[in-house]
Amino acid sequence: PVRVRFAPSPTGPLHAGGVRTALYNYLFARQMGGEMLLRIEDTDQTRFVPGAEQYILEALNWLGIEIDEGPETGGPHAPYRQSERKDIYLQYALQLINEGKAYYAFDTAEELDVMRKRLEAAKVAAVQYNAITRMEMSNSLTLPPDEVQRRLDRGDAYVVRMKIMPKEDVRFNDLIRGWVVVHSSQIDDKVLLKSDGMPTYHLANIVDDHLMGITHVIRGEEWLPSAPLHVLLYRYLGWESSMPKFAHLPLLLKPDGNGKLSKRDADLGGFPIFPLQWTDPTSGDVAKGFREEGYFPESTANFLALLGWNAGTEQEIFSMKELIDSFSFERVHKAGARFDIQKANWFNQQYLKERPIEVLAEEVKPLFASRGIAVNDQQVAQVVQLLKDRVYFVRDIVEESLFLFTAPQEYDQDVAVKKWNEEAVTAISGLEEAFGAYEGEFDAEHIKQLVFDTLTAMSIKMGKVMQVLRLALTGVGTGPDLMMIMEILGRQEVQERLKGAID
Ligand code: GLU
Repeated sequence: PVRVRFAPSPTGPLHAGGVRTALYNYLFARQMGGEMLLRIEDTDQTRFVPGAEQYILEALNWLGIEIDEGPETGGPHAPYRQSERKDIYLQYALQLINEGKAYYAFDTAEELDVMRKRLEAAKVAAVQYNAITRMEMSNSLTLPPDEVQRRLDRGDAYVVRMKIMPKEDVRFNDLIRGWVVVHSSQIDDKVLLKSDGMPTYHLANIVDDHLMGITHVIRGEEWLPSAPLHVLLYRYLGWESSMPKFAHLPLLLKPDGNGKLSKRDADLGGFPIFPLQWTDPTSGDVAKGFREEGYFPESTANFLALLGWNAGTEQEIFSMKELIDSFSFERVHKAGARFDIQKANWFNQQYLKERPIEVLAEEVKPLFASRGIAVNDQQVAQVVQLLKDRVYFVRDIVEESLFLFTAPQEYDQDVAVKKWNEEAVTAISGLEEAFGAYEGEFDAEHIKQLVFDTLTAMSIKMGKVMQVLRLALTGVGTGPDLMMIMEILGRQEVQERLKGAID
């Protein structure tokens, strides 16, 4: 069965790119009837940020990405937090040392520095700790065995490095990028175990993917340069035949297409790049979240899914179920995807339009209450009906309905200058009188008839005074359906506002 994993490092909030990686993993797992794991890669203790793991869980949950195995859910391969699996990695590091595929390296920071400077001065293309340079460094391949043992016994600091063999071909077929071929001379003797006894990302990642039975590694393109090393690690550990397939996802680019979206972009455009709001535990800085900014989880997931993938049709609106059914690696783009917040707004608008009136009504009620505006259920339903096709966010329904609850204090002068003439005054006075005398049913349809009959009797064309009527009632020249506005205002309020406008 297909088994995929989302393997974030808890170094802060996930940004949109990380969430999209989780989403693609989830879509593929569900489509294949497989399993989705969450693994917390927290072996770099210097970058650990409290609260980040909780944030990740909450964000996935908000978006509807369900986890089958993970630190909270548990599962047959627990623990799912790498810091709790130290002994496992150590065992494999020792196995590699015993088999001559890895070695102890005792180099001090100064020695490494000297090597780097020397290589830089010699204008060597890539400064590497490799088959050539390792011969001049202090490690178990160059020191006599008893000296190695003496140093280990003495408790000298060391790391374990992978011994990359020269002249090996490394190749794998990426599900998105196709064949990737690298020669082992391009790869250096990467550290597998750090001096604090913690594994590096590379070792822990490969050991866990193997032990946890991962069949597909779906992750961001920033990991593509590490993939050849990972293939070698599978080979050296004797697991190459059951190696997972790789799929490296295109980068998310800044909204202007200039460079990769990064956590720092949270400060740039004022738009959210995180699923949920995040408060930095050290600085106290608050970064915006899609949830708190009023995006629906469904529209956020839909938006993210289409950053770097399309169904090959015109369809853009996809439920999670539809995404699961239509997702494919063949249709994941190779080029980076622009993080276009206008598009995110558009998606939210589409979902808002389709939301049932009753649901929206329940969502706006507390917003009215918090502004101290008293509205009954019927009014709420009317307001929602009036505005739902015109707004991006639920809160806009409240913002854009405020004019219904207070008569205009001022009138848009640009419109007034152009349209407020003698005929307009006649029309508004006539309408004011007609509304005063009217006793019939007061809904949009009857109101329209009343306005039409009144104006016709005065030989005034309806089209010529509609904007003035709107100005008189709302103070501005444009807005939602005017007949519905009058229905919501009620006969008496309409009459009063018309009177207020001519006075
Ligand atoms: N811990 C890595 C990250 O934070 C995981 C990369 C991978 O999926 O292999 O992105």
